[in-house]
Amino acid sequence: MDLIPSFSVDHRAIVPGIFTSRADSVGGGTVTTYDVRLTRPNREPAVDVAAMHSLEHLIATFLRNDPDWKDEIIYWGPMGCLTGFYLILKGSRPPQEICGLLLSAFRSVEDAQEVPGATAKNCGNYLMHNLGMAKWYAARFADYLADNADNPEIFEYPKTERLVTDDGQHFYDS
Ligand SMILES: [Zn+2]
Repeated sequence: MDLIPSFSVDHRAIVPGIFTSRADSVGGGTVTTYDVRLTRPNREPAVDVAAMHSLEHLIATFLRNDPDWKDEIIYWGPMGCLTGFYLILKGSRPPQEICGLLLSAFRSVEDAQEVPGATAKNCGNYLMHNLGMAKWYAARFADYLADNADNPEIFEYPKTERLVTDDGQHFYDS
C-alpha cells in the first residue's frame, strides 16, 4: 500500500493556502487534485459545518459557470475534517496559476443573495446551510489569498517523514 503525497504532510504545520495533493494520469492526460485549505488544522477551529456546506454549493456553482474554467473543472467538494476543500482540475497547473480563479470564486460569495440548490429536491440536507457564516469565511480566505499571493508558503506543503511500522504498515493521518 503506497502513501499518497497528501498523507506525508505534517498537518500540525499546515497554513491556509492552495496545495497540490496529487496528480494522476487519466486517459492520456493529467488530472490534478488540489487541497484548498481554509484553516490551520488542529490549531484553530475547523469551518462551521453549515457554512462549509453553503460554500460547497456557492463555489461549485461559480466554478462550473465560469466561461474560462468550467470545462477544466472535474470536482469541488469539502474535506471531511472541515478545514478545506478538494478541487480536481484537468491539466497540471502549479497552484499559483489557480490562485486568481479561487480568489474570484471566494470573492463572489459576498454578493450571493441565496445558496444555489438549497432545496429539498436538489440537496441532501437542505436545512443545513448558513449563508451569513459562509460569507464570513469566504471574505476571510479571499483577503488571506490576496495578502499572501507572493508568499510561497501558501502554495507548498511542509514536508514530513512518513510513518511506517516494522512490518511495513503505513499510518494514515487525514
Ligand atoms: Zn447540499
